[in-house]
Amino acid sequence: MPYLREIDAHQHYANRGPLVDRLELRLQAMIACPGCAVLTAASGTAALQAAILAQAGRATPERPYALMPGYTFVATAMAAEACGYRPVFVDIDAATWAAAPAGFAAHPALARAGVVLAVAPYGRGHDQLGWAAFARAHGVAVVIDAAASFEALVDDPAGSTGEVPVVLSFHATKSFATGEGGAVIWSDIAGLQRCAQALNFGFLFSRSSRSAGFNGKMSEYHAAVGLAGLDGWAARAAGYRRVNTLYRAAAVDHGVADIVVVGPVIASNYAMALASSVAEAAAMVAALRDAAIEHRFWYGHGVHREPYFASGAVAALPETESVAARLIGIPIYPEIEPASVTRIVRCLASVRA
Ligand SMILES: *Cc1c(COP(=O)(O)O)cnc(C)c1O
Repeated sequence: MPYLREIDAHQHYANRGPLVDRLELRLQAMIACPGCAVLTAASGTAALQAAILAQAGRATPERPYALMPGYTFVATAMAAEACGYRPVFVDIDAATWAAAPAGFAAHPALARAGVVLAVAPYGRGHDQLGWAAFARAHGVAVVIDAAASFEALVDDPAGSTGEVPVVLSFHATKSFATGEGGAVIWSDIAGLQRCAQALNFGFLFSRSSRSAGFNGKMSEYHAAVGLAGLDGWAARAAGYRRVNTLYRAAAVDHGVADIVVVGPVIASNYAMALASSVAEAAAMVAALRDAAIEHRFWYGHGVHREPYFASGAVAALPETESVAARLIGIPIYPEIEPASVTRIVRCLASVRA
């Protein structure tokens, strides 16, 4: 309420007002490397688009492709497509659920890629220095979609942010949320200015449109939610940590410690069941459905399985298919009751019995 009243007092109802400025400075102190800055956006997808335009520009006839892992949320491909790129999907490693620099380096389409989109799935950490070395070695632009990695950045700002732009989402489903929102964190301040220009119709310090762009700025209302969210962050993070601990203990009690994946392996706002086989996953989904427990394949069956992006699968993606079929999102929120966690884990364990 104090933040909303401030908006009325300022009568600044659109975007890039005092609340957005304050949110960016507070975030910068929490998640950015020394010398890095934070630029907010209207969504994680808008932040991705801005980072692609600032780092790589729009697609060209010589470099029409955007390389990305097959296992990610569709927004990664949508953002590339909005910048004119044709998404091409690379397979992931089963252990990390991500595609490593070596996976991209070996891909035949790399020579015609205008941008490589590295993805940190479910907020699992990413190798900022490794991606910077990859970008230099191959002369290709890289953007890291670390949409759910807010906590990974809080834990290690200097190691996770730097010369390769990192994109976060502040969507309501993420651990730190502004409702809708996102940000680019980058040590290249001129690059961040190009992001700001892309997010504001190609305008920068004038009303003259000088680059590709769109309206992707964060509103004061969302910044108000974000400032309130930062005020309550310690309590929210503690709530998630408590639920992560509940899940781990219940998994041990029911003999499925190998199945239940929660923080700190992944961001604390996710709880996942990783089945050992596709058949076991199908049995788990049936058991969850019978028990009326909501569950979700967050990244579908891989982006290449989405009808709109099917042409991006230029090679087989066996690990993407396998992980996508076995990794099931299960309910989690900071206030979840211990009895609910027990019921969910018991339901998963019933498939093993
Ligand atoms: C949430 C998410 C996005 C999209 O963020 P929005 O804020 O919803 O636009 C993009 N990529 C990944 C990996 C995500 O998890």
